[in-house]
Amino acid sequence: MEADQGIADGLRRGLCNLLALASVLCVALGPGAVRCAPEELADERAVAEEVLEALERNAFEEAAQRTRRGLQTLPSSVLLHNLAGSILLLTGDRAGSEKAWRWVRSAAPSDGIAAYGLALVRLSQGRLDEAEELLKEASGHGEAGCCLLARQYLTFLRGAAMSEALGLPDTVRAGRLGLQTALAEARGDAAAAQEAAETLLRDPTLDRYAEYPSVLMTFDRQQPLRWGAPRLPSGLLALPNRPTVTPVAGTAVLSAPDSAASYVAFRVDGRFLSVANSRPFRLNWNSATVANGPHVVEVVGFDSTGQEIYCQRTEIVTANADAPVPPETARIAGRLWRLLALKPSRASVAFLAWRAAARAGDQTAAARWLWRASAIDPAAVPRAFTPLPAVRNPGPPLWRGSADEKLVALTFDDGPRPGITEELLEILTREQVPATFFMIGRSVAANPGLVARLAQAGMELANHSYSHPNLAHLSDEEIRAELLRTSACIQDITGTAPVWFRPPGGNVSERVIRVAADLGLRAGMWTVNGEQKETEGAEPLLTHVLRRVQPGAVVLLHNGRRTTVMALPALIQQLRLRGYRFVTLSEL
Ligand SMILES: [Zn+2]
Repeated sequence: MEADQGIADGLRRGLCNLLALASVLCVALGPGAVRCAPEELADERAVAEEVLEALERNAFEEAAQRTRRGLQTLPSSVLLHNLAGSILLLTGDRAGSEKAWRWVRSAAPSDGIAAYGLALVRLSQGRLDEAEELLKEASGHGEAGCCLLARQYLTFLRGAAMSEALGLPDTVRAGRLGLQTALAEARGDAAAAQEAAETLLRDPTLDRYAEYPSVLMTFDRQQPLRWGAPRLPSGLLALPNRPTVTPVAGTAVLSAPDSAASYVAFRVDGRFLSVANSRPFRLNWNSATVANGPHVVEVVGFDSTGQEIYCQRTEIVTANADAPVPPETARIAGRLWRLLALKPSRASVAFLAWRAAARAGDQTAAARWLWRASAIDPAAVPRAFTPLPAVRNPGPPLWRGSADEKLVALTFDDGPRPGITEELLEILTREQVPATFFMIGRSVAANPGLVARLAQAGMELANHSYSHPNLAHLSDEEIRAELLRTSACIQDITGTAPVWFRPPGGNVSERVIRVAADLGLRAGMWTVNGEQKETEGAEPLLTHVLRRVQPGAVVLLHNGRRTTVMALPALIQQLRLRGYRFVTLSEL
């Protein structure tokens, strides 16, 4: 105990006793230094690989959690701070990402990713001059395509003369197509604008109506960037307030404390550098021989018998212009740049194509582009331009049709669901039974071919919201977006807008009815609900429905359950035997 205390005092007294030449940086071993325990050096590249792998499959929360854990063991890692800044920027937390990048710029002043990331933050704030300066800085140390795209976008936002997107490589192809659409629209070339927009929207790597989960160009000077990825839960990747770092560059003097040691060994990142046999024990170390970033310096003192009497460990961050870049680090940076490349908002691009077509007087094309823009993101379409059906007061919720005629309307909720929907459609087509499908917009967007087949077979397509939430719990704006987006998807695929909607789970309120009516949608409810029996089996379902059907009945079934498929042929046959005729909801 006493011996330990003595060593600690010695360390404190004799910290760094050099302060020699002004150009030479002294690496002082602080009073907090402790005896070295054998320790695995944490591998920031292994952490970075895991984070990137999560980011590349859009698992933002997982990436954030992994980064946070990595930063706990490697608090001075430039790479992990860059990943944190990237995750925060991609998920729309500009203040958080700025904090990460400010720290990186203190530790590694020439870091290209940090300059670029901060430039995007400034761009989103409309601070174009600052963004431009930062992009110039980033260009010297970053991925050329990403930086060039951002600079050309800046030029576009400034309204400067520019007729073409020049020299943008295929690594930023989506961004190039977006910029081409915007430039063609600006110069009044409707054909070129629509062609570029078509090409962009045909991207097979995305759902038909999805936005890229990236930082998005809106081509709107008022709000130049939007975010395609969901926000992280608050605090998930909150970075602690950390002092800025003074990085080590060029020659650093590693100095041992005054002690009874006979000789001293110096190690960096566990690698032996040199032994000093005479006092003062120090080493002039060229810090440009290691990669930029955090390093662990160990100074080990030995007595005359060769016994280790102390070991001090301290962390430094190096930043040298000519530092070696290991190939794995370069590959990791390349992957990060790809994620940070600006992408166009596909909704904004469709809206630009609408403007181009409308100005050229092509009303049919214009209407289609407006539906597509609304299907991708209703918020990207100014309210005044929202495409709405002609009917504005579609009537009260419908629970049943007239009892005068033996008509029945089969309705199928949810889906479309590949594997089940085809079978339902085959039975209905074979039996020549028209039915009404209340579809979830998200599934419509993922299965446009199936939706087109349902429409071609004469089925009535209706709106069951975009993501199947409880509509009664949403704000007017959210209800509107859920319904409008779904109607827009169906309209774009089939050319016909739905006139019916059914609230998910049957959760409905006066307010939901009113917001839907404003979009020309009437609530299509039901007389007979097969849901509970659908989970029990085909036989109970059949008995349940047949017992309750009366003239004018609306039967609620589901598009996605095997029992429903199994019960359907017998259900059709039995109802026909009783003299019923099948109609869609609009025909009831
Ligand atoms: Zn449902």
